[in-house]
Amino acid sequence: MTKESVHYDTTAGQEELRKRGLQPLPKPDELTAPYWQAARQHQLKIQCCDACGEFQHPPKAECERCGSANLEWQEISGKAEVYSFVIDRRLMIPSFEEPYVVAQINPVEARRNTVRITANICDCELEDVYIGMPVEVFFEDRSEDISLPQFRPGPGAKLKSRGETP
Ligand SMILES: [Zn+2]
Repeated sequence: MTKESVHYDTTAGQEELRKRGLQPLPKPDELTAPYWQAARQHQLKIQCCDACGEFQHPPKAECERCGSANLEWQEISGKAEVYSFVIDRRLMIPSFEEPYVVAQINPVEARRNTVRITANICDCELEDVYIGMPVEVFFEDRSEDISLPQFRPGPGAKLKSRGETP
């Protein structure tokens, strides 16, 4: 079967892609490379501005607060909170096992909630995820070069699947 003959938007096409192990991987560029290099070492690092002391993510060439170009990559704890999330039940990305949760994660070190890491929430049921849920990072080794920072329920998370009320 050639690549062209796989229909990404059908269940059969999805199964074919899964069989081939085809999943899109991040392609680091100049701006994002430090994030991915740290992740490969199982560290979570985001940009912090030397001038005003604010974190930001996704990375930019300049501080979004004060415009300074003096940005440092700082390791953070990986403890965070769910800012927002969606549940993908509709085959939005080929070859992923759906349904799954895509969330925007606000690190505890960040003073502003515009600092958000996009990741999956794993190791819990879909219905467990809620806005404000405490989460913590872990790393999925996906290739020789790429480890994905992902998140799972952290201390204090209330899981409905365990009968707890958030
Ligand atoms: Zn700044």
